[in-house]
Amino acid sequence: MSEETTTGSCLCGKVAYAFIGPVQVFQYCHCSRCRKFTGAAFAPNIIIEPQQLEWLRGEKHVGHYDLPEAKHFATAFCRLCGSSLPWLTQSRKAVVIPAGTLDGDPGVRPQHNIFCADRAAWFDDVEGLIKYEALPVKGG
Ligand SMILES: [Zn+2]
Ligand SMILES: [Zn+2]
Repeated sequence: MSEETTTGSCLCGKVAYAFIGPVQVFQYCHCSRCRKFTGAAFAPNIIIEPQQLEWLRGEKHVGHYDLPEAKHFATAFCRLCGSSLPWLTQSRKAVVIPAGTLDGDPGVRPQHNIFCADRAAWFDDVEGLIKYEALPVKGG
């Protein structure tokens, strides 16, 4: 629980945001919607209250999409570079921060995984894979 300001931004840097104060939950979501939105195996999502979010710059570049068949799920993204951005749930009761867009360490860590039953068939244990510090060097 901190009152620290946490900042994030998109890939092109035209959009930046901040949120102040404690997060409600930090979780990895493995649902198919989050996979489609992020293009990743799962979405590292931080949930905050809408009033905690502030756009620092480029709010005019933020696109929104409310998934018609969903009760809560929506998306927000930079119209210039396509990066995921914090999105307001369709109930308007929470904002979901895609943690990959944070600029630094938010000081909190994920608590759990959700929608594990929908996990991608190809998702494998990250810790079990060979690790390179950067691009692997070919040919030795
Ligand atoms: Zn951008
Ligand atoms: Zn999800």
